[in-house]
Amino acid sequence: LDARTGASGEMYKRASAHLAGGVASSYQLRDPWPIYISRGSGPKVWDVDGNEMWDFHNGFGSMVQGHAHPAIGAAIAERYPMGTHFGCPTEDDVFVADELARRFGLPKWRYTNSGSEATMDAIRIARALTGRDTVMKIFGSYHGHHDTVMVSIGVEYDKIGDRENLASLAYGAGIPQSVVDMTVAVPFNDAGAMERRIERLAAEGRKPACVIMEAAMMNLGVVLPEPGYLEAVREITRKHGIVLIFDEVKTGLAIAAGGATEKFGVTPDMVTMAKVLGGGLPSGAIGGTEEVMSVVEDGSVYQVGTYNGNPLSMVAARASLEQVLTPEAYAHLGHLNDRIVSGCQDVVDRYELPGYALGIGSKGCVTFSTTKVVDYESFKENQDADLANLAWLFNLNRGIFMTPGREEEWTLSVTHTDEAIDAYVAVFEELASELTK
Ligand code: PMP
Repeated sequence: LDARTGASGEMYKRASAHLAGGVASSYQLRDPWPIYISRGSGPKVWDVDGNEMWDFHNGFGSMVQGHAHPAIGAAIAERYPMGTHFGCPTEDDVFVADELARRFGLPKWRYTNSGSEATMDAIRIARALTGRDTVMKIFGSYHGHHDTVMVSIGVEYDKIGDRENLASLAYGAGIPQSVVDMTVAVPFNDAGAMERRIERLAAEGRKPACVIMEAAMMNLGVVLPEPGYLEAVREITRKHGIVLIFDEVKTGLAIAAGGATEKFGVTPDMVTMAKVLGGGLPSGAIGGTEEVMSVVEDGSVYQVGTYNGNPLSMVAARASLEQVLTPEAYAHLGHLNDRIVSGCQDVVDRYELPGYALGIGSKGCVTFSTTKVVDYESFKENQDADLANLAWLFNLNRGIFMTPGREEEWTLSVTHTDEAIDAYVAVFEELASELTK
């Protein structure tokens, strides 16, 4: 690594003087050092050492459009001389809301600047609507960095607790215990456990305001909902008057034109989005039913932000939706994902590795596990952090840029081609061969 990414190593030393930990966000940290990127184009990125890499990291799953897409670049270039920030709505805000409403089947939208802001606002809206404080989430799911949802993620296997009573633990320091206590987590893919927990909470006078969840878990590799699970969750939440929020920060616009909501055919009361929406510029959105969003419209909830609906982000979102994330683009992503999944599965089979390849839309991964991963517990049971780190380095040294850590999957972009996919599979085969020597 020294020989290949020495300039990143040097920059890490320099960065550590005044940039805390040498990075802009804690998730960017890597052992032995982060890779500093200088530019990206289409499916590739170049680091400060000049290494050219196929990008499967894609900005933590944001760049389904590929880097520096000409249509988005042209839209931004046209917008910039006309001014980039007014704190007033622009026509692009209207266009994007119309298009999101069409794709996700939810009538009312607002914007934020990130996924964290979107989930924070959605939870506030749910609390306002129901007059309740408790938030229910899925154990092990990430929904952003605000206190309410920095609970029950990244938990060590022996601290998970029993299935009917999973631990509520803060993720990192600085989160008040009183906030942690308001968040309750239940296992993914277990509607029975969710319903029982809701009933127990109701008996204690603590019925949840909302259930916030990803329809497919995207931070343990990819974990799909079992048949009937989302329908059952929809039913339970409706029965108890609980706002169902699908956090589509990772899935929205990435796994289908209308995200998980379209893919799985279950419509929640709200969705939260970010990442792919802005085509590489900071953005986020919340969408909801007329009833849910009425608390925003009547002014009882403040859903605010100086940069909400920033014109540069919105023009990038508009160009993405109009020109890039088209039905043909999703067909292309589907083709690529089939190719990478079958290529990897073939390697898994031939080398008799314990695991399986799985893909959906532009996302997928190889999960190394002796059993099928259905929730956080079954994921953690088999997790091998050393192998994950090794695979990341192995890929990096062979020109395949991935998100750090086994939890992270690949993200394909519309600019990826069969050549990129074949490069990925070839390196994966090399890894399989080394591991089984
Ligand atoms: N929700 C989900 C499902 C996410 O994956 C993330 C980020 N990885 C977030 C929310 C937070 O988004 P952001 O980093 O834009 O705040």
